[in-house]
Amino acid sequence: MMRKFSLLLPVVLGAIVSPSGAFAQGAATSAPLTNIRYEVTFTRANGVHRRVTSTMTFTVGGTDAVLLSLPKWTPGAYEIDNFAREVSNFSAEQSGNSLAWDKIDPDTWRIRPRGVGEVTVRFDYLADSLDNANTWSRPDFLLFNGTNLFLYPEGRGFDFPSSVTVNTEAGWKIVTGMSPAGAHRYAASNYHDLVDMPFFVGQFDLDSAQISGTWVRFATYPSGSVTGPARVAVWDALKRVIPVEVKVFNEVPWNTYSVLQITDPSYGGGSGLEHQNSHVDVLSPGMLGTPVLPSLYAHEIFHAWNVKRLRPADLWPYRYDEEQPTPLLWISEGITDYYADLAEVRGGLVDANGFYMLTSDKMSQVDELPPTALEDASLSTWIHPRDGTEYIYYPKGSLAGLLLDIMIRDASDNHSSLDDVMRTLFNTAYKSDRGFTSDEWWATVSKAAKGKSFGDFYSRYIDGREPFPYDKVLPLAGLRLARDTTRVPQLGIASLQDSTGLHVTEVIPESSAAAAGVQPGDQLISVGGFSADDPNWTDKFRSRYARQPEGAEVPVVVRRNGAEQTLTARLRFVTRVGSRLLEDPRASTKARRVREGLLRGTTQP
Ligand SMILES: [Zn+2]
Repeated sequence: MMRKFSLLLPVVLGAIVSPSGAFAQGAATSAPLTNIRYEVTFTRANGVHRRVTSTMTFTVGGTDAVLLSLPKWTPGAYEIDNFAREVSNFSAEQSGNSLAWDKIDPDTWRIRPRGVGEVTVRFDYLADSLDNANTWSRPDFLLFNGTNLFLYPEGRGFDFPSSVTVNTEAGWKIVTGMSPAGAHRYAASNYHDLVDMPFFVGQFDLDSAQISGTWVRFATYPSGSVTGPARVAVWDALKRVIPVEVKVFNEVPWNTYSVLQITDPSYGGGSGLEHQNSHVDVLSPGMLGTPVLPSLYAHEIFHAWNVKRLRPADLWPYRYDEEQPTPLLWISEGITDYYADLAEVRGGLVDANGFYMLTSDKMSQVDELPPTALEDASLSTWIHPRDGTEYIYYPKGSLAGLLLDIMIRDASDNHSSLDDVMRTLFNTAYKSDRGFTSDEWWATVSKAAKGKSFGDFYSRYIDGREPFPYDKVLPLAGLRLARDTTRVPQLGIASLQDSTGLHVTEVIPESSAAAAGVQPGDQLISVGGFSADDPNWTDKFRSRYARQPEGAEVPVVVRRNGAEQTLTARLRFVTRVGSRLLEDPRASTKARRVREGLLRGTTQP
């Protein structure tokens, strides 16, 4: 998962956390089912009502109760979504007769068959959640995840094969990572794969190209959202990042790969959700054509190895009925984000300075947040902490990856690297059909570093909350940190983008915005002449006003109770200490070799 927001003002996200785990599950076991088939129906008529119909048909051997559950979450999106909330018109029938049913917990239905034979269960699912873990429709388009629509029998494991048939309008397209098994029909050998392959159905743009010896597809909704040079740029990015990611593991883990991308003005920022042979991006139009996109692709595609296959033991196998916390999410997400930056520099999308800027940004993000241990942040993400540290394991985990990479390369005289750690664990844990443990991770890191102990590093910087030892580690790669003090113009508001615009969620007391009369709930129209619709308005505002005197007038146009009004704020500055990563011209030959190896993805032969 990756969430990126283009707004640089503090963005306060209103997360609704649903209680979960309050209902014991697992004791109940469904009657055995065979010959399981699913059908998904989405036509123009469905699109109008924003509902998709899901049907499950199976064979039972008698009258024992059938217990069917819907997942509470989609792996990769580490939050409880309770997809059963979106279900309506649930029914069950056998030989034309409706069957009695009730619920035994919030997302488990109990159906009572009348005897041996075929049972069909049907429900409608509300398709109005623009979320890459959920289901969303427009009159001519549907995104769905299997976790939303495909019931599983309780207590029977997840190894059962099944098929999916999609009923839709003639001429509408279907894209999914599932294997084709007939006209509009797809097959999965187990439930984990079934629900890991989301679908695009309807009218959208689609093309494909061969990269690293396999077909990659790029599907974009709405039609026309990514065309001409913008589409060429996406393909260029994919052709640059995929091969260098493949090189880390020396193998392509998919037969085909699909990039499924939705652009919609109701979405603020951008977000990607990874799967074993596809990923789903949801973007605001302002994200298109920005450097955020290649970074998002590189992150999600690296997940095809790191987390979809090489996965912490706590997440192996996935369970769908409750949270699945792990202290190692910083490896799955943060290290993936480190490799996204590496893929960009190794693939030539950014130069070394671009890589240093990406890294410096992460350092600044971490510096501005309360000291938080990576293991704690990994566990806490499920409850969305509201002190700003909800996603700190992305930038901080990425920086931990950089430090480990440098220390491994230094200790091994650049004969091995973090790449070796990733490849070794992929070939041992994943290829043995299991997850990896914390002990295994650190033993593999230590082995790559020629036996160097990481116990102290672990207890101070991973389990502990001490600031990272940049000044000790960066010079080993010929790098150093410059700390700049800058004056940044600040209004003192937090804002949140939603489908209707950018809204003020908080006004800091005694701030410039408070003095001007900005109120929570105001919709921001423009600040200092820059439209709030422009995703880069905060950058533009800061650069225009950086050299103006304290107290200069800043027009702030807001919409309140339906009417626009212009308020006048007085410019105020805050002092920020930023970190800038630089090459040290006096670096030793060894340190320069470490740096070049890291940037190019090479080690000494
Ligand atoms: Zn991710």
